[in-house]
Amino acid sequence: MDHINISAIPKPVLSVLGVLKNAGHQGHIVGGCVRDLLLGREPKDWDITTDARPETVLSLFPDSFYENDFGTVGVKVDPFHTFGDPDRRHDVIEVTTYRTESSYSDRRRPDKVAFVTSLPEDLSRRDFTMNAIALEIIGSDTSVDIVDPFHGRVDIANKLIRTVGNPEQRFGEDALRMMRAVRLYAELRHPNISGGWSIDMAALSAIRKHAALLSHVSRERVRDEFSRIILSGSPADGVELLRTAGLLHDIVPELEEGIGVGQNLHHTLEVYEHNLRSLRHCPSRKLEVRLAALLHDIGKPKTKRGDGYRSTFYNHDHVGARMTRAILGRLRYPAAVIDSVTMLVDNHLFYYNVGEVTEASVRRLIRRVGLENMKDLMDVRIADRLGSNVPKAKPYKLRHLEYMIEKVSKDPVSVKMLAINGSDLMNDLGLDPGPKLGAILDVLLSEVIEDPSRNERETLLSRAESLSKDGLETLRDKAKEVIDEKREKDDRNIKNRHKVT
Ligand code: ATP
Ligand code: MG
Repeated sequence: MDHINISAIPKPVLSVLGVLKNAGHQGHIVGGCVRDLLLGREPKDWDITTDARPETVLSLFPDSFYENDFGTVGVKVDPFHTFGDPDRRHDVIEVTTYRTESSYSDRRRPDKVAFVTSLPEDLSRRDFTMNAIALEIIGSDTSVDIVDPFHGRVDIANKLIRTVGNPEQRFGEDALRMMRAVRLYAELRHPNISGGWSIDMAALSAIRKHAALLSHVSRERVRDEFSRIILSGSPADGVELLRTAGLLHDIVPELEEGIGVGQNLHHTLEVYEHNLRSLRHCPSRKLEVRLAALLHDIGKPKTKRGDGYRSTFYNHDHVGARMTRAILGRLRYPAAVIDSVTMLVDNHLFYYNVGEVTEASVRRLIRRVGLENMKDLMDVRIADRLGSNVPKAKPYKLRHLEYMIEKVSKDPVSVKMLAINGSDLMNDLGLDPGPKLGAILDVLLSEVIEDPSRNERETLLSRAESLSKDGLETLRDKAKEVIDEKREKDDRNIKNRHKVT
Protein backbone atom coordinates (compact mmCIF):
# COMPACT_ATOMS: atom_id res chain seq x y z
CA MET A 1 0.00 0.00 0.00
CA ASP A 2 2.79 2.42 0.85
CA HIS A 3 4.79 1.55 -2.11
CA ILE A 4 4.14 2.66 -5.62
CA ASN A 5 6.23 1.17 -8.32
CA ILE A 6 7.47 3.87 -10.60
CA SER A 7 7.03 1.60 -13.58
CA ALA A 8 3.26 1.86 -13.04
CA ILE A 9 3.41 5.53 -13.98
CA PRO A 10 3.12 6.09 -17.71
CA LYS A 11 6.00 7.79 -19.50
CA PRO A 12 3.97 10.77 -20.78
CA VAL A 13 2.97 11.58 -17.19
CA LEU A 14 6.61 11.47 -16.09
CA SER A 15 7.62 13.69 -18.95
CA VAL A 16 5.01 16.37 -18.13
CA LEU A 17 6.30 16.34 -14.54
CA GLY A 18 9.86 16.63 -15.90
CA VAL A 19 9.04 19.71 -17.94
CA LEU A 20 7.47 21.42 -14.90
CA LYS A 21 10.45 20.55 -12.73
CA ASN A 22 13.01 21.76 -15.30
CA ALA A 23 11.19 25.09 -15.40
CA GLY A 24 11.64 25.37 -11.62
CA HIS A 25 8.08 24.39 -10.70
CA GLN A 26 6.56 21.77 -8.48
CA GLY A 27 4.44 19.01 -9.93
CA HIS A 28 2.56 16.16 -8.25
CA ILE A 29 0.34 13.40 -9.50
CA VAL A 30 -2.89 13.74 -7.58
CA GLY A 31 -6.52 12.75 -7.19
CA GLY A 32 -8.36 9.70 -8.47
CA CYS A 33 -5.38 8.27 -10.34
CA VAL A 34 -3.30 8.05 -7.15
CA ARG A 35 -6.21 6.40 -5.35
CA ASP A 36 -6.61 3.96 -8.23
CA LEU A 37 -2.89 3.18 -8.36
CA LEU A 38 -2.92 2.38 -4.64
CA LEU A 39 -5.93 0.13 -5.22
CA GLY A 40 -4.41 -1.49 -8.27
CA ARG A 41 -7.24 -0.19 -10.44
CA GLU A 42 -7.06 1.30 -13.89
CA PRO A 43 -7.03 5.11 -13.50
CA LYS A 44 -9.73 6.88 -15.46
CA ASP A 45 -7.64 9.93 -16.12
CA TRP A 46 -4.30 11.36 -15.03
CA ASP A 47 -4.21 14.61 -13.09
CA ILE A 48 -1.23 16.70 -12.11
CA THR A 49 -1.23 19.58 -9.67
CA THR A 50 1.36 22.35 -9.77
CA ASP A 51 2.33 25.72 -8.36
CA ALA A 52 2.72 27.06 -11.91
CA ARG A 53 -0.07 29.40 -13.00
CA PRO A 54 -2.24 28.35 -15.95
CA GLU A 55 -0.60 30.84 -18.31
CA THR A 56 2.82 29.41 -17.42
CA VAL A 57 1.59 25.87 -17.99
CA LEU A 58 0.19 26.95 -21.36
CA SER A 59 3.54 28.41 -22.35
CA LEU A 60 5.53 25.36 -21.19
CA PHE A 61 3.41 22.99 -23.29
CA PRO A 62 2.81 24.23 -26.83
CA ASP A 63 0.15 21.59 -27.44
CA SER A 64 -2.13 22.53 -24.57
CA PHE A 65 -5.45 24.29 -24.03
CA TYR A 66 -7.18 26.06 -21.19
CA GLU A 67 -10.02 23.77 -20.14
CA ASN A 68 -12.13 25.68 -17.67
CA ASP A 69 -12.20 28.63 -15.34
CA PHE A 70 -10.75 26.65 -12.49
CA GLY A 71 -7.11 26.63 -13.41
CA THR A 72 -7.04 23.40 -15.41
CA VAL A 73 -4.88 23.15 -18.52
CA GLY A 74 -5.20 20.12 -20.75
CA VAL A 75 -1.82 19.00 -22.04
CA LYS A 76 -1.94 16.85 -25.14
CA VAL A 77 0.42 13.90 -25.14
CA ASP A 78 1.07 10.84 -27.28
CA PRO A 79 -1.78 8.40 -26.65
CA PHE A 80 -1.01 5.81 -23.96
CA HIS A 81 -2.70 3.01 -22.05
CA THR A 82 -1.98 2.79 -18.34
CA PHE A 83 -2.07 -0.95 -17.79
CA GLY A 84 -2.49 -1.86 -21.42
CA ASP A 85 -6.29 -1.70 -21.19
CA PRO A 86 -7.22 -0.96 -24.80
CA ASP A 87 -10.52 0.65 -23.74
CA ARG A 88 -8.78 3.27 -21.67
CA ARG A 89 -6.74 5.36 -24.01
CA HIS A 90 -5.41 8.62 -22.64
CA ASP A 91 -4.19 11.48 -24.74
CA VAL A 92 -4.64 14.45 -22.41
CA ILE A 93 -3.13 15.02 -18.99
CA GLU A 94 -4.86 17.63 -16.87
CA VAL A 95 -2.55 20.05 -15.12
CA THR A 96 -4.27 22.16 -12.46
CA THR A 97 -2.78 25.02 -10.49
CA TYR A 98 -2.89 24.68 -6.69
CA ARG A 99 -6.13 26.26 -5.66
CA THR A 100 -8.74 26.53 -2.98
CA GLU A 101 -12.41 27.03 -3.51
CA SER A 102 -14.17 29.79 -1.69
CA SER A 103 -17.84 29.38 -0.80
CA TYR A 104 -20.34 27.67 -3.09
CA SER A 105 -23.26 30.02 -2.67
CA ASP A 106 -25.25 28.41 -5.50
CA ARG A 107 -24.13 24.94 -4.37
CA ARG A 108 -23.12 24.29 -7.94
CA ARG A 109 -19.69 25.68 -8.40
CA PRO A 110 -17.31 27.72 -6.30
CA ASP A 111 -17.97 31.46 -6.44
CA LYS A 112 -14.36 31.89 -7.28
CA VAL A 113 -11.26 29.81 -7.15
CA ALA A 114 -8.22 31.27 -5.51
CA PHE A 115 -4.82 30.07 -6.58
CA VAL A 116 -2.61 29.18 -3.65
CA THR A 117 1.05 28.40 -3.34
CA SER A 118 1.24 25.23 -1.32
CA LEU A 119 0.35 21.65 -2.02
CA PRO A 120 -1.22 21.00 1.43
CA GLU A 121 -3.67 23.84 0.84
CA ASP A 122 -4.63 22.33 -2.49
CA LEU A 123 -5.07 18.87 -0.98
CA SER A 124 -7.30 20.27 1.76
CA ARG A 125 -9.96 21.43 -0.73
CA ARG A 126 -10.38 17.91 -2.11
CA ASP A 127 -13.42 15.86 -1.24
CA PHE A 128 -12.30 12.55 0.24
CA THR A 129 -9.11 11.49 1.98
CA MET A 130 -8.42 8.85 -0.65
CA ASN A 131 -8.62 11.58 -3.31
CA ALA A 132 -6.25 13.89 -1.44
CA ILE A 133 -3.01 11.96 -1.84
CA ALA A 134 -0.19 13.31 -4.01
CA LEU A 135 2.84 11.60 -5.55
CA GLU A 136 6.13 13.26 -6.24
CA ILE A 137 8.82 11.79 -8.43
CA ILE A 138 12.21 12.07 -6.79
CA GLY A 139 15.55 12.19 -8.55
CA SER A 140 15.64 11.46 -12.21
CA ASP A 141 12.57 9.28 -12.33
CA THR A 142 13.89 6.85 -9.77
CA SER A 143 11.57 6.86 -6.77
CA VAL A 144 8.19 8.07 -5.62
CA ASP A 145 7.38 10.10 -2.54
CA ILE A 146 3.85 10.02 -1.16
CA VAL A 147 2.25 13.13 0.36
CA ASP A 148 -0.76 12.09 2.40
CA PRO A 149 -1.63 14.68 5.05
CA PHE A 150 -5.17 13.34 5.63
CA HIS A 151 -4.16 9.69 5.99
CA GLY A 152 -5.94 8.58 2.87
CA ARG A 153 -3.86 5.41 2.78
CA VAL A 154 -5.13 4.37 6.19
CA ASP A 155 -8.70 4.94 5.03
CA ILE A 156 -8.04 3.00 1.85
CA ALA A 157 -6.67 0.13 3.94
CA ASN A 158 -9.82 0.28 6.09
CA LYS A 159 -12.01 0.67 3.01
CA LEU A 160 -13.48 3.84 4.38
CA ILE A 161 -14.82 6.77 2.39
CA ARG A 162 -14.13 9.75 4.59
CA THR A 163 -14.27 13.46 3.87
CA VAL A 164 -11.30 15.76 4.14
CA GLY A 165 -12.34 17.90 7.10
CA ASN A 166 -15.77 18.26 8.64
CA PRO A 167 -18.34 16.36 6.55
CA GLU A 168 -21.24 18.70 7.27
CA GLN A 169 -19.21 21.66 6.13
CA ARG A 170 -17.84 19.89 3.07
CA PHE A 171 -21.26 18.64 1.90
CA GLY A 172 -22.71 22.03 2.68
CA GLU A 173 -20.14 23.66 0.36
CA ASP A 174 -20.82 21.34 -2.54
CA ALA A 175 -23.79 18.99 -2.28
CA LEU A 176 -22.62 16.92 -5.24
CA ARG A 177 -19.95 15.44 -2.97
CA MET A 178 -22.72 13.43 -1.31
CA MET A 179 -23.38 11.68 -4.60
CA ARG A 180 -19.68 11.29 -5.26
CA ALA A 181 -19.43 9.43 -1.96
CA VAL A 182 -22.15 7.00 -3.05
CA ARG A 183 -20.62 6.69 -6.51
CA LEU A 184 -17.21 5.80 -5.04
CA TYR A 185 -18.92 3.28 -2.79
CA ALA A 186 -20.68 1.63 -5.75
CA GLU A 187 -17.52 1.61 -7.85
CA LEU A 188 -15.23 0.29 -5.12
CA ARG A 189 -17.58 -2.22 -3.55
CA HIS A 190 -17.22 -5.70 -4.86
CA PRO A 191 -20.57 -7.46 -5.22
CA ASN A 192 -19.13 -10.80 -4.12
CA ILE A 193 -17.19 -9.60 -1.13
CA SER A 194 -19.13 -8.77 1.99
CA GLY A 195 -17.74 -6.40 4.57
CA GLY A 196 -16.29 -4.22 1.85
CA TRP A 197 -16.27 -0.50 1.50
CA SER A 198 -18.36 1.82 3.58
CA ILE A 199 -18.95 5.51 4.04
CA ASP A 200 -17.59 6.77 7.34
CA MET A 201 -20.34 7.11 9.98
CA ALA A 202 -19.96 10.85 10.47
CA ALA A 203 -20.05 11.42 6.70
CA LEU A 204 -23.10 9.22 6.28
CA SER A 205 -25.06 11.00 8.97
CA ALA A 206 -24.03 14.34 7.46
CA ILE A 207 -25.42 13.15 4.12
CA ARG A 208 -28.69 12.14 5.77
CA LYS A 209 -28.91 15.55 7.33
CA HIS A 210 -28.06 17.52 4.19
CA ALA A 211 -29.60 15.29 1.51
CA ALA A 212 -32.16 17.92 0.54
CA LEU A 213 -29.35 20.23 -0.61
CA LEU A 214 -28.86 17.98 -3.64
CA SER A 215 -31.84 19.69 -5.26
CA HIS A 216 -29.65 22.80 -5.73
CA VAL A 217 -27.07 20.92 -7.76
CA SER A 218 -27.29 21.14 -11.53
CA ARG A 219 -29.12 18.17 -13.01
CA GLU A 220 -26.26 17.48 -15.42
CA ARG A 221 -23.79 16.92 -12.58
CA VAL A 222 -26.32 14.75 -10.73
CA ARG A 223 -26.98 12.79 -13.92
CA ASP A 224 -23.28 12.10 -14.53
CA GLU A 225 -22.78 10.69 -11.04
CA PHE A 226 -26.05 8.74 -11.28
CA SER A 227 -24.91 7.19 -14.57
CA ARG A 228 -21.63 6.18 -12.98
CA ILE A 229 -23.50 4.48 -10.15
CA ILE A 230 -25.68 2.64 -12.69
CA LEU A 231 -22.61 1.56 -14.67
CA SER A 232 -20.60 0.55 -11.60
CA GLY A 233 -19.91 -2.96 -10.38
CA SER A 234 -22.60 -2.65 -7.69
CA PRO A 235 -25.35 -0.51 -9.19
CA ALA A 236 -28.19 -1.89 -7.06
CA ASP A 237 -26.25 -1.37 -3.83
CA GLY A 238 -25.49 2.14 -5.03
CA VAL A 239 -29.16 2.95 -5.66
CA GLU A 240 -30.16 1.44 -2.34
CA LEU A 241 -27.54 3.54 -0.58
CA LEU A 242 -28.86 6.62 -2.39
CA ARG A 243 -32.25 5.77 -0.94
CA THR A 244 -31.20 5.09 2.63
CA ALA A 245 -29.00 8.19 2.60
CA GLY A 246 -32.03 10.25 1.53
CA LEU A 247 -30.64 11.24 -1.90
CA LEU A 248 -32.83 9.12 -4.17
CA HIS A 249 -35.75 11.32 -3.33
CA ASP A 250 -34.20 14.14 -5.33
CA ILE A 251 -33.15 11.93 -8.25
CA VAL A 252 -35.86 9.33 -8.96
CA PRO A 253 -38.56 9.67 -6.28
CA GLU A 254 -40.79 7.50 -8.49
CA LEU A 255 -38.71 4.47 -7.46
CA GLU A 256 -39.67 5.04 -3.85
CA GLU A 257 -43.34 4.74 -4.78
CA GLY A 258 -42.63 1.02 -5.21
CA ILE A 259 -41.69 0.55 -1.57
CA GLY A 260 -44.26 -1.55 0.22
CA VAL A 261 -46.20 -2.14 -2.99
CA GLY A 262 -46.83 -5.85 -3.01
CA GLN A 263 -47.31 -7.69 -6.27
CA ASN A 264 -49.33 -10.78 -6.97
CA LEU A 265 -49.43 -14.46 -7.68
CA HIS A 266 -46.59 -14.17 -10.17
CA HIS A 267 -44.20 -12.09 -8.15
CA THR A 268 -43.12 -12.58 -4.59
CA LEU A 269 -41.10 -9.38 -4.30
CA GLU A 270 -42.27 -5.86 -3.70
CA VAL A 271 -42.01 -3.55 -6.69
CA TYR A 272 -39.06 -1.51 -5.40
CA GLU A 273 -37.06 -4.57 -4.52
CA HIS A 274 -37.83 -6.19 -7.83
CA ASN A 275 -36.65 -3.12 -9.75
CA LEU A 276 -33.41 -3.13 -7.80
CA ARG A 277 -32.80 -6.82 -8.29
CA SER A 278 -33.45 -6.51 -12.00
CA LEU A 279 -30.74 -3.86 -12.15
CA ARG A 280 -28.39 -6.05 -10.09
CA HIS A 281 -28.81 -8.97 -12.47
CA CYS A 282 -28.91 -7.00 -15.70
CA PRO A 283 -26.66 -8.91 -18.10
CA SER A 284 -25.80 -5.81 -20.14
CA ARG A 285 -23.14 -3.20 -19.47
CA LYS A 286 -24.99 -0.60 -21.52
CA LEU A 287 -26.34 2.43 -19.68
CA GLU A 288 -29.64 2.34 -21.58
CA VAL A 289 -30.32 -1.30 -20.81
CA ARG A 290 -29.40 -0.94 -17.15
CA LEU A 291 -31.64 2.10 -16.80
CA ALA A 292 -34.45 0.15 -18.44
CA ALA A 293 -33.89 -2.76 -16.05
CA LEU A 294 -34.18 -0.35 -13.12
CA LEU A 295 -37.21 1.48 -14.50
CA HIS A 296 -39.12 -1.25 -16.32
CA ASP A 297 -41.81 -1.56 -13.63
CA ILE A 298 -41.80 2.08 -12.57
CA GLY A 299 -45.45 2.32 -13.69
CA LYS A 300 -46.67 -0.43 -11.37
CA PRO A 301 -47.51 1.57 -8.24
CA LYS A 302 -49.69 3.93 -10.29
CA THR A 303 -51.51 1.17 -12.18
CA LYS A 304 -52.11 -1.26 -9.36
CA ARG A 305 -55.72 -2.33 -8.98
CA GLY A 306 -56.99 -4.60 -6.27
CA ASP A 307 -55.08 -6.22 -3.49
CA GLY A 308 -53.24 -9.35 -2.66
CA TYR A 309 -52.40 -12.06 -5.13
CA ARG A 310 -55.19 -11.06 -7.48
CA SER A 311 -54.05 -7.49 -7.98
CA THR A 312 -53.39 -6.26 -11.52
CA PHE A 313 -51.04 -3.79 -13.15
CA TYR A 314 -52.62 -3.39 -16.59
CA ASN A 315 -50.88 -0.90 -18.80
CA HIS A 316 -47.94 -0.44 -16.44
CA ASP A 317 -45.59 -0.87 -19.40
CA HIS A 318 -47.02 2.11 -21.29
CA VAL A 319 -47.58 4.25 -18.19
CA GLY A 320 -44.03 3.34 -17.13
CA ALA A 321 -42.68 4.40 -20.51
CA ARG A 322 -44.24 7.85 -20.10
CA MET A 323 -42.82 8.12 -16.60
CA THR A 324 -39.40 7.01 -17.84
CA ARG A 325 -39.39 9.75 -20.46
CA ALA A 326 -40.22 12.33 -17.79
CA ILE A 327 -37.62 11.04 -15.30
CA LEU A 328 -34.77 10.93 -17.79
CA GLY A 329 -35.79 14.25 -19.32
CA ARG A 330 -35.64 15.84 -15.89
CA LEU A 331 -32.12 14.48 -15.49
CA ARG A 332 -31.18 15.98 -18.87
CA TYR A 333 -30.19 12.72 -20.51
CA PRO A 334 -29.55 13.06 -24.24
CA ALA A 335 -32.61 12.47 -26.44
CA ALA A 336 -31.15 9.26 -27.90
CA VAL A 337 -30.74 7.73 -24.42
CA ILE A 338 -34.25 8.81 -23.41
CA ASP A 339 -35.73 7.32 -26.58
CA SER A 340 -34.08 3.94 -26.19
CA VAL A 341 -34.80 3.50 -22.49
CA THR A 342 -38.41 4.58 -23.04
CA MET A 343 -38.78 2.16 -25.93
CA LEU A 344 -37.36 -0.71 -23.84
CA VAL A 345 -39.71 0.00 -20.92
CA ASP A 346 -42.67 0.36 -23.29
CA ASN A 347 -42.00 -3.02 -24.88
CA HIS A 348 -40.65 -5.04 -21.98
CA LEU A 349 -43.77 -7.22 -21.75
CA PHE A 350 -43.60 -8.43 -25.35
CA TYR A 351 -45.55 -11.61 -25.69
CA TYR A 352 -43.81 -14.73 -26.70
CA ASN A 353 -45.02 -18.25 -26.45
CA VAL A 354 -43.52 -20.98 -28.57
CA GLY A 355 -45.96 -22.34 -31.09
CA GLU A 356 -48.51 -19.67 -30.33
CA VAL A 357 -46.79 -16.61 -31.69
CA THR A 358 -46.63 -16.16 -35.41
CA GLU A 359 -43.71 -15.01 -37.48
CA ALA A 360 -45.79 -11.97 -38.38
CA SER A 361 -46.02 -10.93 -34.75
CA VAL A 362 -42.26 -11.31 -34.34
CA ARG A 363 -41.88 -9.06 -37.39
CA ARG A 364 -44.27 -6.54 -35.79
CA LEU A 365 -42.22 -6.59 -32.61
CA ILE A 366 -39.03 -6.05 -34.61
CA ARG A 367 -40.68 -3.24 -36.53
CA ARG A 368 -41.70 -1.51 -33.31
CA VAL A 369 -38.41 -2.01 -31.54
CA GLY A 370 -35.88 -2.13 -34.38
CA LEU A 371 -33.78 -5.19 -35.15
CA GLU A 372 -30.69 -3.52 -33.72
CA ASN A 373 -32.44 -3.18 -30.35
CA MET A 374 -33.75 -6.71 -29.97
CA LYS A 375 -30.71 -7.88 -28.04
CA ASP A 376 -31.17 -5.03 -25.54
CA LEU A 377 -34.86 -5.85 -25.16
CA MET A 378 -34.02 -9.49 -24.45
CA ASP A 379 -31.46 -8.36 -21.88
CA VAL A 380 -34.14 -6.32 -20.10
CA ARG A 381 -36.35 -9.39 -20.10
CA ILE A 382 -33.54 -11.54 -18.68
CA ALA A 383 -32.90 -8.89 -16.00
CA ASP A 384 -36.63 -8.88 -15.21
CA ARG A 385 -36.72 -12.67 -14.82
CA LEU A 386 -33.57 -12.87 -12.72
CA GLY A 387 -34.86 -9.98 -10.65
CA SER A 388 -38.03 -11.96 -9.89
CA ASN A 389 -36.17 -14.89 -8.41
CA VAL A 390 -36.99 -16.96 -11.47
CA PRO A 391 -34.18 -19.46 -11.70
CA LYS A 392 -33.46 -19.74 -15.38
CA ALA A 393 -32.16 -16.59 -17.02
CA LYS A 394 -32.82 -17.66 -20.53
CA PRO A 395 -35.61 -20.17 -20.71
CA TYR A 396 -36.37 -22.17 -23.78
CA LYS A 397 -38.92 -19.51 -24.75
CA LEU A 398 -36.35 -16.75 -25.06
CA ARG A 399 -33.93 -18.96 -26.92
CA HIS A 400 -36.71 -19.86 -29.28
CA LEU A 401 -37.49 -16.19 -29.80
CA GLU A 402 -33.84 -15.60 -30.68
CA TYR A 403 -34.16 -18.30 -33.26
CA MET A 404 -37.34 -16.70 -34.63
CA ILE A 405 -35.70 -13.30 -34.79
CA GLU A 406 -32.85 -14.79 -36.72
CA LYS A 407 -35.32 -16.53 -38.98
CA VAL A 408 -37.41 -13.47 -39.84
CA SER A 409 -34.55 -10.99 -39.75
CA LYS A 410 -34.25 -11.07 -43.53
CA ASP A 411 -37.95 -10.35 -43.93
CA PRO A 412 -39.02 -6.77 -44.51
CA VAL A 413 -39.65 -4.97 -41.23
CA SER A 414 -38.98 -1.42 -42.32
CA VAL A 415 -39.94 0.75 -45.28
CA LYS A 416 -36.32 0.63 -46.44
CA MET A 417 -36.66 -3.11 -46.91
CA LEU A 418 -39.62 -2.90 -49.28
CA ALA A 419 -39.04 -3.98 -52.89
CA ILE A 420 -40.07 -0.49 -54.05
CA ASN A 421 -39.38 3.00 -52.78
CA GLY A 422 -40.67 6.54 -53.19
CA SER A 423 -38.94 7.12 -56.53
CA ASP A 424 -40.56 4.00 -57.96
CA LEU A 425 -43.95 5.40 -56.99
CA MET A 426 -43.13 8.67 -58.79
CA ASN A 427 -41.48 7.13 -61.86
CA ASP A 428 -43.73 4.15 -62.43
CA LEU A 429 -47.06 5.49 -61.23
CA GLY A 430 -46.48 9.19 -61.89
CA LEU A 431 -47.31 10.13 -58.29
CA ASP A 432 -46.29 13.55 -57.01
CA PRO A 433 -43.68 13.89 -54.31
CA GLY A 434 -45.11 14.61 -50.85
CA PRO A 435 -46.26 13.00 -47.63
CA LYS A 436 -48.66 10.73 -49.46
CA LEU A 437 -45.79 8.64 -50.79
CA GLY A 438 -44.63 7.87 -47.27
CA ALA A 439 -48.17 7.02 -46.19
CA ILE A 440 -48.57 4.59 -49.11
CA LEU A 441 -45.28 2.91 -48.24
CA ASP A 442 -46.43 2.59 -44.61
CA VAL A 443 -49.60 0.80 -45.68
CA LEU A 444 -47.59 -1.46 -47.97
CA LEU A 445 -45.19 -2.28 -45.14
CA SER A 446 -47.96 -3.13 -42.70
CA GLU A 447 -49.35 -5.56 -45.28
CA VAL A 448 -45.97 -7.03 -46.11
CA ILE A 449 -45.26 -7.63 -42.44
CA GLU A 450 -48.34 -9.84 -42.33
CA ASP A 451 -47.36 -11.58 -45.56
CA PRO A 452 -43.76 -11.17 -46.77
CA SER A 453 -44.54 -12.91 -50.06
CA ARG A 454 -46.18 -9.65 -51.11
CA ASN A 455 -42.83 -7.92 -51.09
CA GLU A 456 -42.47 -8.16 -54.78
CA ARG A 457 -42.18 -5.24 -57.16
CA GLU A 458 -45.19 -5.81 -59.41
CA THR A 459 -47.48 -6.81 -56.54
CA LEU A 460 -46.52 -3.72 -54.59
CA LEU A 461 -46.86 -1.36 -57.55
CA SER A 462 -50.33 -2.52 -58.39
CA ARG A 463 -51.41 -2.33 -54.75
CA ALA A 464 -49.86 1.15 -54.55
CA GLU A 465 -51.80 2.22 -57.60
CA SER A 466 -55.12 1.37 -55.99
CA LEU A 467 -54.03 2.91 -52.66
CA SER A 468 -53.06 6.14 -54.45
CA LYS A 469 -56.76 6.87 -54.96
CA ASP A 470 -57.17 7.29 -51.21
CA GLY A 471 -56.54 10.60 -49.49
CA LEU A 472 -53.64 11.13 -47.09
CA GLU A 473 -55.81 10.79 -43.98
CA THR A 474 -57.38 7.55 -45.19
CA LEU A 475 -53.96 6.12 -45.93
CA ARG A 476 -52.64 7.06 -42.52
CA ASP A 477 -55.68 5.51 -40.91
CA LYS A 478 -55.19 2.36 -42.94
CA ALA A 479 -51.59 1.94 -41.87
CA LYS A 480 -52.53 2.73 -38.30
CA GLU A 481 -55.53 0.42 -38.35
CA VAL A 482 -53.43 -2.59 -39.21
CA ILE A 483 -50.81 -1.65 -36.62
CA ASP A 484 -53.30 -0.76 -33.91
CA GLU A 485 -55.41 -3.79 -34.46
CA LYS A 486 -52.40 -6.05 -34.22
CA ARG A 487 -50.94 -4.13 -31.34
CA GLU A 488 -54.19 -4.55 -29.48
CA LYS A 489 -54.05 -8.23 -30.17
CA ASP A 490 -50.47 -8.40 -28.89
CA ASP A 491 -51.43 -6.42 -25.80
CA ARG A 492 -54.43 -8.68 -25.21
CA ASN A 493 -52.11 -11.64 -25.34
CA ILE A 494 -49.88 -10.01 -22.78
CA LYS A 495 -52.86 -9.39 -20.53
CA ASN A 496 -54.20 -12.90 -20.86
CA ARG A 497 -50.90 -14.52 -20.31
CA HIS A 498 -49.98 -12.42 -17.33
CA LYS A 499 -53.61 -12.41 -16.24
CA VAL A 500 -52.73 -10.50 -13.15
CA THR A 501 -49.60 -8.77 -14.34
P1 ATP B 1 -12.55 9.45 -11.53
O1 ATP B 1 -11.47 10.05 -12.35
O2 ATP B 1 -12.49 7.98 -11.39
O3 ATP B 1 -13.88 9.97 -11.91
P2 ATP B 1 -11.70 11.22 -9.53
O4 ATP B 1 -11.65 11.12 -8.04
O5 ATP B 1 -10.42 11.43 -10.24
O6 ATP B 1 -12.41 9.93 -10.02
P3 ATP B 1 -12.51 13.59 -10.83
O7 ATP B 1 -13.86 14.15 -11.08
O8 ATP B 1 -11.63 13.24 -11.98
O9 ATP B 1 -12.71 12.35 -9.89
O10 ATP B 1 -11.78 14.66 -9.89
C1 ATP B 1 -10.40 14.66 -9.70
C2 ATP B 1 -10.08 15.05 -8.26
O11 ATP B 1 -10.58 16.35 -7.99
C3 ATP B 1 -10.71 14.17 -7.20
O12 ATP B 1 -9.94 13.02 -6.93
C4 ATP B 1 -10.78 15.09 -6.01
O13 ATP B 1 -9.52 15.20 -5.40
C5 ATP B 1 -11.10 16.42 -6.66
N1 ATP B 1 -12.56 16.68 -6.77
C6 ATP B 1 -13.38 16.38 -7.77
N2 ATP B 1 -14.62 16.79 -7.55
C7 ATP B 1 -14.60 17.39 -6.35
C8 ATP B 1 -15.57 18.05 -5.55
N3 ATP B 1 -16.84 18.15 -5.95
N4 ATP B 1 -15.16 18.57 -4.37
C9 ATP B 1 -13.88 18.47 -3.96
N5 ATP B 1 -12.92 17.87 -4.66
C10 ATP B 1 -13.26 17.33 -5.84
MG1 MG C 1 -10.10 11.64 -12.23
